[in-house]
Amino acid sequence: MATTMTDYAAEREAMVERHLKRRGITEKPIIDAFLAVPREAFVSPEYEHLAYGDHPLPIEAGQTISQPYIVALMIEAAAIKPGDSVLEVGAGSGYAAAVLGHVAGEVVAIERHDELARLAAERVAGLGLANVRIVQGDGMLGWPEGAPFDAILVAAGSVEVPPALVEQLRVGGRLVMPVGGRWAGQSLVKLTRQADGSLQREHLCEVRFVPLVAGAVPPIRT
Ligand code: SAH
Repeated sequence: MATTMTDYAAEREAMVERHLKRRGITEKPIIDAFLAVPREAFVSPEYEHLAYGDHPLPIEAGQTISQPYIVALMIEAAAIKPGDSVLEVGAGSGYAAAVLGHVAGEVVAIERHDELARLAAERVAGLGLANVRIVQGDGMLGWPEGAPFDAILVAAGSVEVPPALVEQLRVGGRLVMPVGGRWAGQSLVKLTRQADGSLQREHLCEVRFVPLVAGAVPPIRT
């Protein structure tokens, strides 16, 4: 049987050009991070050939890997710099965490589904990203051991921002998260923690993320 080798590096470059650069993502560290992370390694083999479309794709446990443009927009909005300590809530496939690993100093990404957390940790380790840690737990509680964070990205939507996340944000820290109902539109918002403890709020765009759900999901025992 004849097989065609897919040139994923070329597809990756085309995705970055078409869906990131042409849509206004210009910061070189972010562009370089997207060029460095093989998105095809974060989906199951049946979806590999679709890895470079600018859309979410199904992953294990009924969840989705985020659309590259939205991941880029969130990283850009959070103004993540080298050396920053970043928390991601909703590690999912681990893709956004891997991209963050190229832009930030230290990354902790929490995932409530044990199966996803294990797979994401394997993928990130396979790429040699020693500054990215994937942990299983309830991200609504944040990750107190690592606080305070310079930036927190939440990859799942909720009607309100979990208070623990705000508490774990450094003064001047940025939290980017989809806020809104499960069925209604969600608004991607950026909250910046002020010195007096108040939050400056900015609306970025309308988005549609899977819901943020309280509680960790234990491993399925068979
Ligand atoms: N950033 C991911 C996108 C994953 S989708 C990627 O690049 O692939 C959002 C993820 O948030 C899902 O995997 C879902 O299981 C997870 N999630 C939802 N509520 C959560 C919570 N309270 N704590 C941790 N993870 C949560």
